Amino acid sequence: MAIPFPRLLLGPGPSEPHPDVLAIQQKPLLGHLDPDFLQIMSETQVLLRQVFQTKNDVTLAVSGTGMAGMECVLTNLLEPGQKLLVCTAGFFGDRMINVAQRAGAEVAVLRGEWGNCFTLADIEKALVEHQPAVLAIVQAETSTGVLQPLEGLGELCHKHRCLLAVDAVTSLGTSPLDVDGLQIDAIYSGSQKGLGCPPGLAPVSFSTQAMDRIKARKKPAQSYYLDVVELMKYWGPDRGYHHTAPISSVYALHTGLKLVNDEGLQARWKRHVQNKELLKAGLSRLGITYFTQEHCQAPALSAVNIPAGLDDMTIRKRLLNDFGIEIGGGLGALKGKAWRIGLMGYGSRPENVDKLLAALAKCL
Ligand SMILES: *Cc1c(COP(=O)(O)O)cnc(C)c1O
Repeated sequence: MAIPFPRLLLGPGPSEPHPDVLAIQQKPLLGHLDPDFLQIMSETQVLLRQVFQTKNDVTLAVSGTGMAGMECVLTNLLEPGQKLLVCTAGFFGDRMINVAQRAGAEVAVLRGEWGNCFTLADIEKALVEHQPAVLAIVQAETSTGVLQPLEGLGELCHKHRCLLAVDAVTSLGTSPLDVDGLQIDAIYSGSQKGLGCPPGLAPVSFSTQAMDRIKARKKPAQSYYLDVVELMKYWGPDRGYHHTAPISSVYALHTGLKLVNDEGLQARWKRHVQNKELLKAGLSRLGITYFTQEHCQAPALSAVNIPAGLDDMTIRKRLLNDFGIEIGGGLGALKGKAWRIGLMGYGSRPENVDKLLAALAKCL
């Protein structure tokens, strides 16, 4: 089969990468310990700190997708028997429960209503009740289109002697996020959503407090590959062999992050809001409403109700086959009930909104 077919990727990820990002991957390979490649790694770390808005020394890109980031954060922070509180109102929050249980953690769950966000009061009650060592929450829940406000949450967690871990897979590069300002202790993301790169790398960052906790573990993390102490022997000053970095993917992330910083974080966040508003107005003209509550809608991901009488797969197949446009179906409880439209990274552009609206108008 010939690759690639042109597609407009307007689903929950991967998003359409910037042409410069695709082009850089065709550059010749360097060895993973070549001084020039090590320089690219160092620059990637500087760029990642800028995008995360952190001074955290331990900031790197795990080789793997967003899920590798989730596993890295949870399995490093948690020891068997330690308590994690997961605040979940969606598919990816639920995933954290699964990952943490496999790491042997004792998991307490605060369940919220799908399509809504948590309040600090909800969370404080659960913190008092469960007294967890770590609290985990998703900033942009890609299954429901909810953007969870994080203001004050880090302070609240620390008041209750708990570390804060955040999933920023869809929010990084699309919504306001200030890791140090928000006192986040551990965070992970993915290359293929808001950062506009192909899938394959998971940026992570750990605070000093989180690293102190990890270094004091009774036993090292169960996964050698994702052990952040081991990873820092490669991404830290020693630059020793740990695993072979996916060289071309690192080139791509390096270029993608440069594009984020050149655009400027504020401008980028604003662009995501503007294009989402454009989409929302157009969908409303077509009679399509949002699943997500008005006050907590994520700019990068619109979860919308499939109008009554329409078949999910029929419309999505037509969009793909006749118009070359991919949007996402519903996950979990929203299967067959919702569409998920992503306007992320380079893909968040007015002409993409227009193309989708025109195609949808013909399909409905
Ligand atoms: C996509 C996504 C993940 C998982 O990332 P993969 O790259 O698919 O492994 C985790 N959390 C959220 C919120 C996501 O949107």
